[in-house]
Amino acid sequence: MDLGIRGRVAVCAAASRGLGRAVAEALAAEGVHVALGARGREALEATAAAIRERYAVEVLAHPVDVGAPEEAAGFVRAAEARFGQVDILVTNAGGPPPTRLRNTTPDEWKAALDQNLLSCVHLVRAALPGMIERRWGRILAIASVSVKQPVPDIILSNTARAGIAGFMKSLATEAAPHGVLANVLCPGYTRTARLEELVAHLAATGEATEEEIHARWSADIPLGRVGEPEEFGAVAAFLASERASYVTGTVLAVDGGHVRSLT
Ligand code: NAD
Repeated sequence: MDLGIRGRVAVCAAASRGLGRAVAEALAAEGVHVALGARGREALEATAAAIRERYAVEVLAHPVDVGAPEEAAGFVRAAEARFGQVDILVTNAGGPPPTRLRNTTPDEWKAALDQNLLSCVHLVRAALPGMIERRWGRILAIASVSVKQPVPDIILSNTARAGIAGFMKSLATEAAPHGVLANVLCPGYTRTARLEELVAHLAATGEATEEEIHARWSADIPLGRVGEPEEFGAVAAFLASERASYVTGTVLAVDGGHVRSLT
């Protein structure tokens, strides 16, 4: 299937590795020019160089902390300056530290909401006017299956993701008359550095070894394994495409069947 987005421009936040990078690569494979943002310049430049080399697209690497409102807006402005427009926005950020309520502080709550909820709001506020002007846009927010079923021991993340779902559903209604579609993608357990950090954290409690944790997760996933970032990227590229023209306001799990709820 031709996704019909060759030559379009995507802003991909938190894209130097993991899920954000996988989405950027899937879009680049469809001929989309990509602006990659992440905090660390070195990893970002390396990812940008790899994508440039592999796909015949232009790549902008822009160091950014998406939790800072001005930096998030500056990232979108830099992409518009470089490419003339932004058609596709993928919001994303690193997850907050795993923790339980009794161990959290007010500063940690503020940091988690800045990074994992408000970053999405800041990026959308910056990118939406141009999309509305051109009457075409695709906004994808990377959240988590915790939107559908909170995950134990990551209360900061669970709370911020629920906010993303509320924001994106509201946005979908506001933006639809202007040709802009907004959807949430909910990764389940997917093999990235973040997942390995979570495994190490859980193993450090002494309840189970890393191998036992992996085995437990796989046993609880109907497809019997954690996902690969490329599998997530492929779904994102479809939702960002011309072909997904009648899909907006959805909250889609990419989780191997892990979440058992009906919606
Ligand atoms: P990851 O840690 O492998 O990659 C995170 C990326 O975000 C990196 O490129 C990092 O440089 C960048 N980043 C972090 N903070 C940033 C900031 N403030 N501004 C800009 N860039 C920033 O994580 P991942 O596994 O790719 O996950 C991406 C998101 O999806 C995270 O929020 C994570 O919690 C969530 N998630 C992941 C899984 C999974 O199994 N991998 C499951 C559910 C949800």
